[in-house]
Amino acid sequence: MRLKVILPKVEPDVYDMPEECPYGCGGKYFKPHGVRGEWKPLRDPKYDEVVSYRYKCIRCGRSFRVYPRGVGPGPQSDRLKGMSVFLYVLGVSYGGVEDFTGALGCGIGKTTVYNNVQASGEEARQRQRHTVQQGGKRAVIGADATSVRVQGETVGIEVVVDDATGELLGLEIIVSESSTEIIEVIKTVAESVAAEVLVSDDHGAYQEVVDETGLEHQLCRHHVKENVEDLADALAEQVTHAADPPAESDLTPEQLTDDLDQLRDLVRHRPPDGETQLEQLYDRYKGVPKPPPGERYSVWYRMRMLITRLWDRWRCLTVDQRRDDLDGTNNAAERLIGWWIKERYRLMRGYKREASIKNVVTLTARMGAAEGYYDMSELFA
Ligand SMILES: [Zn+2]
Repeated sequence: MRLKVILPKVEPDVYDMPEECPYGCGGKYFKPHGVRGEWKPLRDPKYDEVVSYRYKCIRCGRSFRVYPRGVGPGPQSDRLKGMSVFLYVLGVSYGGVEDFTGALGCGIGKTTVYNNVQASGEEARQRQRHTVQQGGKRAVIGADATSVRVQGETVGIEVVVDDATGELLGLEIIVSESSTEIIEVIKTVAESVAAEVLVSDDHGAYQEVVDETGLEHQLCRHHVKENVEDLADALAEQVTHAADPPAESDLTPEQLTDDLDQLRDLVRHRPPDGETQLEQLYDRYKGVPKPPPGERYSVWYRMRMLITRLWDRWRCLTVDQRRDDLDGTNNAAERLIGWWIKERYRLMRGYKREASIKNVVTLTARMGAAEGYYDMSELFA
């Protein structure tokens, strides 16, 4: 996956006056304080120094400095900060960024690089929260989970995305096995964006979310297709050396093999009469008794369970056939995890703490999911 970004610029002759007094007194009028500007040394690939000017707030009488666009009170320009963050996201280590900026003649230490990355990540998270709160309705959201290693421990990450654009809407670190945290992050996003549909795999937590929120549930049709096909293969194998069908039924191994083919066809093509077909299949197997406790499930009983399960989920497998704003897969969430968590994680050689995961993942996902070029200036505004 490519990252296309625009680095912040330094414009040494452009000065933006604050709209309100930086001390928060509410004053809007300022007068120059001292006539000449002062040179300020700058760490930047292009400019070694810029001029700052002092102003005085007419209302509260306090003075402040105004710097050229792309420069703040600190020694680094926004461009240099942006470069260091971009290099890190591309996979250069903190020490590597130190070496590279040193070679450019505007070196920053690796602790500064780390701080730049974390500060940009915090800013990206704030902007993401703002996007979710103010960004209007998103009818379809997708959720998925993954895990990474943090200092030798496995840490789960739950993500919620806009199914249409792939934009990251929510991210939570999942420490316990319980579903509570998963439910919480999805609920929060769903409410803020007035979601109508949740796309996910078959994990139990998602069922709880839709039960609690009343969201429509689309099970990722790729997942279900794969699961059903795998199970069909296993049953087709099992039936070749299976015990006889239950005495009171007229089931045969040939019938079961045919029915498995029908199930494969159903999940592949999802025909309009799918529910009816499943009902008929269910009728054929509903008399198969559950084996007594401790006994292995017969192929006949496993077939009964497979059909029941699929019939039960059919409506969740076909939401995309009743709406025109989703494709029925969880690709958006999976892509985000693949590109911006798994791939970047590998490059970035492990995270040191959980907050850092949130910062870095939100940052890279925001950079990566942006349409066209991502303007990094928003991170340093
Ligand atoms: Zn003031």
